[in-house]
Formats: sequence, C-alpha cells, structure tokens
Amino acid sequence: MTERQPFIAGNWKMHKTLAEGKTLARNIRDGAAPGRRAEVALAPPYTALAAVAQELAGSDIRLAAQDTFWEKQGAYTGAISPAMLADAGCHYVIVGHSERRQHFGDTDATVNRKLTAVIAAGLIPILCIGETQAERAADQTLQVVRRQLEGGLGTLKPTTGTGLVVAYEPVWAIGTGLTATPEQAQTVHHFIRSLLREFLGPVAEAIRIQYGGSVTPDNAVTLLAQPDIDGALVGGASLKPELFLPIIKAAG
Ligand code: PEP
Repeated sequence: MTERQPFIAGNWKMHKTLAEGKTLARNIRDGAAPGRRAEVALAPPYTALAAVAQELAGSDIRLAAQDTFWEKQGAYTGAISPAMLADAGCHYVIVGHSERRQHFGDTDATVNRKLTAVIAAGLIPILCIGETQAERAADQTLQVVRRQLEGGLGTLKPTTGTGLVVAYEPVWAIGTGLTATPEQAQTVHHFIRSLLREFLGPVAEAIRIQYGGSVTPDNAVTLLAQPDIDGALVGGASLKPELFLPIIKAAG
C-alpha cells in the first residue's frame, strides 16, 4: 500500500491584516511540533503572502495561495499570476474553491486553465471539488464530483503523486458547522481515488485527497482515520491556533 503523507492546509479566506497574519503564522509555526507526520500549509490572503513567507522561513510549513489567474503577466487588473505566487514564496495554489465558483464565476473550464498554469509555473495545485446540498439531495454527488474532476484536470497528467492535491469539499459543509460523516466522506474519497486511477493511472495511489467542510479538533480524528482521507483543507478553524494545532496533531 502506498504511504501518503497527511496534508493539513489552512485557508484563511478574506481574513487577517498583515500584523494579525504574521502573529497567526508565528503561533502556528511555533506550535506545530517538529517531528510530526503531517505536512502543513497556510493560505493567507494575497496581501499577507510575503509577510507570512518571512515568518515561515526556516520552518517546514509551506505557503499556499487561495487562487490565481492563468496568464503570466499583462493587462489583467486585479489578477495575480502563478509566477508571482512562486516569487512570493508559494508552494501550493488552491484552485476551484466553491466560493470562487459561487461568487467569482469560476467554471470547470477556467479551473482547468488555472490548474494548467499553476503546474507550468512549478507549483502544486489543490483542486477543490464538491457538491451542493441540492445536488446531494438529488443523488448527484458522484456525478458532480466526476464532472468537476474530469473538467478540472482536462488533459493534464501529473506524473508524480505529489504534483497534485485534490480537496473534496461538500459545499453544504463549508462554514456551516455541518460535516460529512466519516463514512459519507470516505465513500466520495474512494470514488475520487477510482476516478484518479481511471484518468491518471497508478500515480493515483500517491495523490493526497483532503477533506474540507467544518473540520474541527472534534471530528478530525475520525475523518483522518478513513483510508482515502489524506488530510484536511480547513477554513474557519485555521484562524485559531487553539483549533488548528490539534487538527495538525490529529493527522499524526
Ligand atoms: C474551506 O474554506 O475550504 C473550508 C472547508 O471552510 P470551513 O472549514 O470553515 O468549513
């Protein structure tokens, strides 16, 4: 069986000033015990990337961005390219978060362009997929997840298991306090792994699939114990070291 290093990432969304972000990053850096098994990444807002990179320098905690645009540079007011994110010290880039799909018009096609650009810049995408409450109620979860994964990947074929991370985030569980049960999540993660096998071949065994949606220290242990849940993408709880650090610990 392939060993996959657990991966816990904190998505700060549109939170934290520079000073607050530096303090939070420092607290997580100092509180995340060395010798832990889990890889850890923080995704602050763009404005705090460079400052948080400074706080994380010399530690093994990675920097992540919350989104990007696919062009390298040019007249794209408000946009940030993967090359700029690499320059700011990022290692990972979240693409296709449901909030980007909901509020900013991201589609499977634009997610694919972002994913392609992220990989071309030498960064690793965290591809978010997941169904809405209505889609789950209509029994369309697996169909939606297949469409988003297939559309997001397109013809991309990462050749190493560490070149791609997938985050399964049921939209109804994000920021709502509702969490998929470990069994519900494992069913979808197992399905995602089978899709990765179908699309990418044996490399699928090494690709980390994170769960996201109201992860807390209370539910992290049982979620992370599932065979196809390889980590967590954490929103709200990543803003508080007293919640985020125990989640990191739960991953070993
Ligand atoms: C997220 O933003 O990816 C997320 C899962 O948020 P929360 O943990 O707050 O549900």
